[in-house]
Amino acid sequence: MQYEKEKLLSITKPGSVCALCGESLVGEPKHLSVLKPNHQAADGAAKSGETPPGEAKNAESEEPEFIRTDYHRECWKKVRKADYLSFWLAKRPAPPETPKMTRQERNTRLLALFGALMKTDDPIDEPAKFVLSHLLMRYRALTLAPSRIDEDGRKWINFEILQTEDKFEIPDIRLSDEQAAETLGRINEYLNRGGR
Ligand SMILES: [Zn+2]
Repeated sequence: MQYEKEKLLSITKPGSVCALCGESLVGEPKHLSVLKPNHQAADGAAKSGETPPGEAKNAESEEPEFIRTDYHRECWKKVRKADYLSFWLAKRPAPPETPKMTRQERNTRLLALFGALMKTDDPIDEPAKFVLSHLLMRYRALTLAPSRIDEDGRKWINFEILQTEDKFEIPDIRLSDEQAAETLGRINEYLNRGGR
């Protein structure tokens, strides 16, 4: 679970250049994305000693445990033997239209989206609820409460919004890296549209 969570939170926006040839990826409709262990984060953990359970260090530094690297489809063929955890074919998002937002603006927009999603029971929204709640935990807008197993054996994750103390429960689901990346891409598009 911890491993899965760190992996999920490491799937960030695609880079703007190919990690092999250094040429722009922006014109590419699709490219390859790879997840690799972030040795810098591992070194940091070793130096700071013990890491408390849950969020801890990573929520603070926002330093991911894994690094996403992007390649042209042709360049990927040359490096695919390298050490990686998983890879997927990613759709390139349109470049952002809005300038960078503050953390406060970002969290406000994400919390608004989370609030709207929590009003629906549609299973189609479950990946978005799952990814968004983990993002908000990393940004310290949500805290984790004890989870619950229902009578059908399904696990539910409980959260509390720090600002309002509102409590939420979402089903624990398994997402492939590709699904997680795709869902994060949609959340980023929402943010770049100014939260609309
Ligand atoms: Zn390339």
